[in-house]
Amino acid sequence: MPPEHLDVLIVGAGLSGISLAAHLRTARPGTTFAVLEARGAVGGTWDLFRYPGVRSDSDMFTLGYAFRPWPGPEAIVDGATVLDYLQETAREQEVQPRFHHRVTAAQWSSDTARWTVTVEHDAQEHTLTCGFLALCAGYYRYDQGHSPAIPGLDDFAGPVVHPQHWPADLEHAGRRVVVIGSGATAISLVPALAETAAHVTMVQRSPSWVTALPRRDHVVARLGRRLPRAAARLARLRNVLFQVGSFRLARQLPGPTRRLLLRRVTRSLPAGFDVARHFTPSYAPWDQRLCVAPDGDLFRAIRAGTVDVVTGAIAQVTPSGVTLSTGEHVPADVLVTATGLNLLGLGGVALTVDGRRVRLPETYVYKGMMLSGVPNLSLTVGYTNASWTLRADLVSAYVCRLLQHLDRTGCHSVTPVTPDLPPGQRRPMLELESGYVKRSLPGLPVQGPGVPWRVPQSYLRDRRVMLRGPVTDEVVFGRAVTGRSPEASTVGA
Ligand SMILES: Cc1cc2nc3c(=O)[nH]c(=O)nc-3n(C[C@H](O)[C@H](O)[C@H](O)COP(=O)(O)OP(=O)(O)OC[C@H]3O[C@@H](n4cnc5c(N)ncnc54)[C@H](O)[C@@H]3O)c2cc1C
Repeated sequence: MPPEHLDVLIVGAGLSGISLAAHLRTARPGTTFAVLEARGAVGGTWDLFRYPGVRSDSDMFTLGYAFRPWPGPEAIVDGATVLDYLQETAREQEVQPRFHHRVTAAQWSSDTARWTVTVEHDAQEHTLTCGFLALCAGYYRYDQGHSPAIPGLDDFAGPVVHPQHWPADLEHAGRRVVVIGSGATAISLVPALAETAAHVTMVQRSPSWVTALPRRDHVVARLGRRLPRAAARLARLRNVLFQVGSFRLARQLPGPTRRLLLRRVTRSLPAGFDVARHFTPSYAPWDQRLCVAPDGDLFRAIRAGTVDVVTGAIAQVTPSGVTLSTGEHVPADVLVTATGLNLLGLGGVALTVDGRRVRLPETYVYKGMMLSGVPNLSLTVGYTNASWTLRADLVSAYVCRLLQHLDRTGCHSVTPVTPDLPPGQRRPMLELESGYVKRSLPGLPVQGPGVPWRVPQSYLRDRRVMLRGPVTDEVVFGRAVTGRSPEASTVGA
């Protein structure tokens, strides 16, 4: 029996995999495809993270799909609501992933113009083949969050918890909680824990930029009563324009942006609060993702006295709390290490092209979604400065256009050519200062100076390139050289 063959194999049933499956159904109804998912659920990130306060950072009008507008009026919602939305979308689009199927390797053959894909399922390995491999596998390790070595951590007498693996039965009510970290996760967790904890202290090595945004969109709330779809579309357009504009402004005028953010933070905190120490980062706004405090919840909790912020290096964790290098001791019953993610490229799938192993740092990323020298492969990586979905939908649409082009021209493969760029023109794929990004850059592909080798982090520019630009620039097309064996195929997901 030849292995099962599919036109497209989608790896991952998170936000991005659902997007591509939906686009394939609409734009290419005859395409055979399957969605393989390592876990037992759809939703990816939104199913995995269960810590108190987990929520969207982006507004739902742009985090929602263009093909299924978020009805509002809530703009920032909790993780369970995002998960519901993704599950409902998957149901509506009849996306039925094959659960507990982990893709471990994929080998491309130019002779057959196919990928042979190794899959682990039920503790066994099997293979299948596909014409196009779409990696919608996210960007970090699911099995392990980032846990830097903190001296004495093992001596702590109470529970030590990483937000990526939050125990459902962890009791924090009435207890003193210390959250180590200052990223988006810590900023979401801290006010949520403070609702029932005896006290919460956020211990941060250095501050992050935090800004308050309204949870509810009042324009949509008013307009949406009569024209719900128009209101949602309008909110999406407005938020895209606002995001693009404010990001550009922050880049071009970092000084005034800093001052504006600081003014807002200062107004939200009690008089005399040490804003310079606890809320004034050393990096420019948007060198890292901006943290959002919905309706200013973090600032409100500080004003109420249920949350403290302590800034400084941790010298030692003791059985009863955390001691800083200044000698200050913060008592704790529960310790939360909100210390980030471990980045993982390509969902851990080992790629080989005609017998040669693909080494990511030797590849250039093409239009932010293919790799130089690697045929018929897409990867979906969202924006660092805007909603992931904006980019995921563009990548999905582009994959459909590429497949259309292959069909029209009778070609079987498309490969971005490796650009001949001097080393000085190579840039890291992700231009963020966040610790988890900097730790992982040496293992990631690089980008070049201009289209199609640059990832501009601009939805409006990408929209032009991905939806209307050519699909033939700086790529080579090919045809299989050997006859293809008879195949079994599966229609749909
Ligand atoms: C706590 C948190 C909050 C976030 N908040 C926001 C936000 O507000 N706005 C925003 O835009 N972005 C946010 N992000 C980024 C977020 O990851 C994206 O919004 C989005 O969920 C990514 O979707 P994805 O489908 O690409 O990846 P994931 O959600 O990571 O899904 C990938 C799926 O692929 C599966 N998979 C991986 N490898 C394999 C393999 N080898 N074989 C089979 N299956 C595999 C995984 O099991 C998973 O189900 C957040 C991230 C985190 C961690």
